[in-house]
Amino acid sequence: MNLEKAAATVVVVGSINMDLVAHASRLPAPGETLIGEAFAGTPGGKGGNQAVAASRLGADVALVGRVGLRQHGHELLAALEQEHVSTDAIHRDDAAWPGVAVIMVARDGGENAIVVVPGSNADLTPADVEAAARQIQSARVVVAQLEVPVPAIQRAFELARQAGVTTVLNAAPAQSLPPALLALTDWLVVNETEAAQLCGDALDAAARVDELTLAREAARHLRTLGPRHVLVTLGGQGAWLLGDEHPQGHHLRATRVDAIDTVGAGDTLVGGLAVGLAEGLEPLQAASLGQSAAALAVSRSGVQQAMPYRSELPALAD
Ligand code: ADP
Repeated sequence: MNLEKAAATVVVVGSINMDLVAHASRLPAPGETLIGEAFAGTPGGKGGNQAVAASRLGADVALVGRVGLRQHGHELLAALEQEHVSTDAIHRDDAAWPGVAVIMVARDGGENAIVVVPGSNADLTPADVEAAARQIQSARVVVAQLEVPVPAIQRAFELARQAGVTTVLNAAPAQSLPPALLALTDWLVVNETEAAQLCGDALDAAARVDELTLAREAARHLRTLGPRHVLVTLGGQGAWLLGDEHPQGHHLRATRVDAIDTVGAGDTLVGGLAVGLAEGLEPLQAASLGQSAAALAVSRSGVQQAMPYRSELPALAD
């Protein structure tokens, strides 16, 4: 009998956080204590979010990361398992704190204030990633974001590249990146703010006249740094795709929805894109799968809980 588990199709290398969300009539002033109206603790972190998005959309998903087992650690692992995300390659630290985001949301206007403490996410090393080499090299797609240390991501992408596995880097939150990492990136996904930050002075004022011009010019510049495909997301305006098959660029319009909660839209899109690529879809179709999933997610409240299942999407990519 073959007891070897089927290879995960999508491997996500990334962060796992607990989001602690307190709702109050307004945000407190410095030094002030307010009595809040509601509280919820929900699993988050870009790595966890993208893994759940991809799993709900039908991929076999494994997450490579680190979780501290103090306080919420066990709960975070259980939540991922409930979403059918493999936690075998998540390193457990008995004595460490998991990543936590403390979020305050004001009732009127929805203004928020957030402190993210990376906790054990910051301890992910290239050696941790190396331990998951077999999973990475047997995947179709490896996805990473920037809430875990860059050397760990770079090691994952090196392993992926050696085995011909497609790499997707969601460069969020934006930070300057080593050229070697961009050279190992097949797909770079950024929102417009991150695109502008990554480009810095390479974008002149003329490129910043409107969102679409910025996306077009930023994608052109970023593609010269290594990625074969660049996808710049534009919220309700959709996304701009530049790649081998679309050398002039292509504007993917967003599906029209009543947006209720756009937090996590990018994570849903990246999860969907990864699933599409793992299924061998053409770049435009894979990006469209991500977009339809993201549109559905923004039409509902919450982050992971708003992410759609494959059966909820139009039959576009089936
Ligand atoms: P991020 O969450 O990383 O800031 P965006 O806000 O650009 O990313 O959103 C990512 C994707 O989610 C968009 O490319 C689009 O497909 C979808 N999306 C976001 N906001 C809306 C919206 N209001 N209506 C429809 N789709 C949306």
